[in-house]
Amino acid sequence: MNKLLKYFYYIRNFIAKILDKKFNFLIFFVTSKCNLKCKDCFFWKEINKAGDLTLEEIEKISRSMPKIIAILFSGGEPFLRRDLDKIIEVFYKNNKTCSFSIATNGTLIDEIMMVIKVILEKYQDIIITLNFSLDGFKKKHDDIKGVPGSYTRTVSCLNKLSSLRSKYPNLRITVNTVILKDNIDEILNFAQYIQREFDVDGHYFEIIRGEPKDTLLKDVPYNKLLNLYWRLVKLQSYYIEKIIANDNMVSKFFNKLYYISNFLLLYRYQYRILSGKSRWPMQCLAGVVAGVLDYDGNFKLCELRKNIAKLQDYKYDFKKLWFSILRRKELKRIKVERCDCTHVCFIDQSYKHSMKVMLFIIPYLYLKYRIFGVKSVIK
Ligand code: SF4
Ligand code: SF4
Repeated sequence: MNKLLKYFYYIRNFIAKILDKKFNFLIFFVTSKCNLKCKDCFFWKEINKAGDLTLEEIEKISRSMPKIIAILFSGGEPFLRRDLDKIIEVFYKNNKTCSFSIATNGTLIDEIMMVIKVILEKYQDIIITLNFSLDGFKKKHDDIKGVPGSYTRTVSCLNKLSSLRSKYPNLRITVNTVILKDNIDEILNFAQYIQREFDVDGHYFEIIRGEPKDTLLKDVPYNKLLNLYWRLVKLQSYYIEKIIANDNMVSKFFNKLYYISNFLLLYRYQYRILSGKSRWPMQCLAGVVAGVLDYDGNFKLCELRKNIAKLQDYKYDFKKLWFSILRRKELKRIKVERCDCTHVCFIDQSYKHSMKVMLFIIPYLYLKYRIFGVKSVIK
């Protein structure tokens, strides 16, 4: 009976989470400053501009925000902000945020070590995921990043941080690789190399998005994607086996099912969108469950759409902006325009709140994958 009750509560919470479409995920471009010159950067027109929000301004905005389950810090290079630890504390205290991901180029080793130590020593309930950007082997990576020596620094930082995980169990280390026209041929070897040589918790692959400095990099041949994704799904199995090693049988099964299906779904729709085959199977929830705060106080519903307003014009009151007519108009435009993109953050945030995807499409894709293999799911 106890067991039955436990499963009942588990299912009830699972459904409640799907139906809960409150704002809960913030992407914050915490600074415009950056020490690299990446060819694939979609933020390049804003790099090193003046006007980063001050800590006091961030504090005001945060006080007017609701509870936020997870925050992704991006930029620029987030660790160029000397007060990144204080910013984390602001959201922890005001918005009860316990999960922070930081997208970093990994070159500022001392700064990264300092923030990690300060936060994880002080707060045992905060989880920090450092997402290191590595776009290929040394020569390719440095060429894409535009600064010689950046690969060596990033890899050295990654190794140092990995070794800290025994001391800080709430520290997660992941790698993010952007798929470009220039690196698609070496991605599989690179992914296998990362798996073999580094102790990381996951390796994610994102198709180049937005308007990069070098627009030719966007010509990713989608026919090559199929073969690549097919093998990358196998690689993801390695990471999930590591994550679920100590789970019981039931959670092992469901965690694996949803982890692998997450990639199946993502790769399927990225491939289909690029090849013009189909659209997202759910409505985009940009501006419903998630939003993007820019370094200078501008707010937009997703990274790829235009700013809707500046927090400064609302006296830093997020609630006023959130319930404004400008946001409602942008939501309508998103619905009408169906601008389905390949951005993992919003695909992820949107499908998790879709009953159709969570209860039917995901189990169906997983079953198909187990019986007929990855290609049958992605094509
Ligand atoms: S992609 Fe990131 S690291 Fe590269 S220039 Fe842009 S902000 Fe800097
Ligand atoms: S589909 Fe993509 S581009 Fe369109 S609103 Fe959603 S996240 Fe933004």
